[in-house]
Amino acid sequence: MLAHTYLFPCLKDNYGVLVQDPETGATAAIDAPEAGPVEAALAKTGWRLTDILVTHHHNDHTAGIGALKVQHQCRVVAPRNEAQRISPVDEKVGEGDVVHVGSLLGRVIETPGHTSGHISYFFPAAKLAFVGDTLFSIGCGRVIEGNPEMMWQSLLKLRGLPDDTRFYCGHEYTDANIRFAKTIEPYNKALAARAAEVAQQLAAGKPTIPTTIGAEKAENPFLRADMPEVRKAVALAAVPRWKVFAEIRERKNRF
Ligand SMILES: [Zn+2]
Repeated sequence: MLAHTYLFPCLKDNYGVLVQDPETGATAAIDAPEAGPVEAALAKTGWRLTDILVTHHHNDHTAGIGALKVQHQCRVVAPRNEAQRISPVDEKVGEGDVVHVGSLLGRVIETPGHTSGHISYFFPAAKLAFVGDTLFSIGCGRVIEGNPEMMWQSLLKLRGLPDDTRFYCGHEYTDANIRFAKTIEPYNKALAARAAEVAQQLAAGKPTIPTTIGAEKAENPFLRADMPEVRKAVALAAVPRWKVFAEIRERKNRF
């Protein structure tokens, strides 16, 4: 195992996740929605918090940073383009920058749209990605500070990661996302199979993430906005691909 991960719920429907380097013991929290559950996760795993890797400035991803920094003197890495809205920050990063967690190497991918400076972290050797509120399982984040074209480009970057990349997102929204996705692609067999799997996971009280980029490419309508069947479903065959994405996002907003 190249990296260990530990996922835990916090706030109403947020996820926190720890990623640990078995070689050095270094551990990063991906975002810090609130300090208490992160402390509980550290106590449970016995891991030592060395870093917080922040995806974006929203309060439900950053409210725990201050207390964790005081307690653990960990390094806080945050997106350069919105670092002024996050506190405290030790290191500002942007596209292509490398972030080490012990001996684990992560690469920063700028994925703006949900917020204007949102970033994701990709650990190629461990085949792990932490995508914050850009990509969700069977969904994507609301386009709040950017525009649909920008968000679509961000999703294309994540779609371009290797199929076997496991990704962690910031929220448990999969069930509602599946209900919406079925309105776009009612005959998608991969989506139907996933729906059955997710129903089982949720009934057992289990999280529906992580999932893989490969699976999402087959099931997530937001990643499939340029597929002929999805274009047809939203009756937008001859417009730029991002406009099909924009239409699907708009329908989800009203769903
Ligand atoms: Zn957010």
